[in-house]
Amino acid sequence: MCTATFQQIHDISIVQNVFPINRTIRDARDVFDEVDEEEFLSLPTNQRFNLTHKPISEKDIMSASLLHTYLRTISWFLLLICHLQCGAIQKWSPTSPIILGVKKFITSLIEEKLSISIDTPSVQGGTTTTGNVVRRCFTRSDDTVEDFLYWVLTVVPQETHQVVTTIFNNLSAIQRLYNSNRKVDTEGLDNLCRETYESILTNFSWAHVTPTLHKLLAHAPQIIADHYDGFGLEDLSEEGLESCNKLVRGTTEYC
Ligand SMILES: [Zn+2]
Repeated sequence: MCTATFQQIHDISIVQNVFPINRTIRDARDVFDEVDEEEFLSLPTNQRFNLTHKPISEKDIMSASLLHTYLRTISWFLLLICHLQCGAIQKWSPTSPIILGVKKFITSLIEEKLSISIDTPSVQGGTTTTGNVVRRCFTRSDDTVEDFLYWVLTVVPQETHQVVTTIFNNLSAIQRLYNSNRKVDTEGLDNLCRETYESILTNFSWAHVTPTLHKLLAHAPQIIADHYDGFGLEDLSEEGLESCNKLVRGTTEYC
């Protein structure tokens, strides 16, 4: 989507301007023509330009994996909370034993209080985080004990509550606009995305902005404005297709 490096997507002076969508599918395919694919894909993400596979298509389709953006955004938010709960950790360490332990504690708390199973390995493959689970989490409740964020905030330091609440509410609003079928105020959305991106980098400079979160905050307004006539992308959601996965898996087990 863009050619920004890991350092650049964490550079607030660049975030304050714009990340142009300047990488075509042909550019991405060309990268694979010059390397050993298996060796290349084993490199750290930032050394393989955030590419995860050789594109199959040769045509640029300005698509967005809406469901996966939802899932990965809530996973990122949970990781942020885990790091804040640890307090002393000022380094993004999503797979460290201490962070995984905290994550287990928080997901157990959410399951106990809200009967929501989130980011837990599922016996059917993948994790228990589904589109419905994420929507339930991102929907604020007037009844605080029914509110996902209320319970999340109980495990992080009081001084972070305000900024965490703002980031969470902003991410919720951005996702709903991106996933809507309504005409979007793209300038307003762009301001909200930029404000959220800057807040993350300013308040939590040790946190990593994942490629999915970067795509959402840096590119969603431009995708909506330039490629979908200012409308949200609801019709492009892969959620219906994904819901067939269990059926397909169940069928193939008996073939
Ligand atoms: Zn980008």
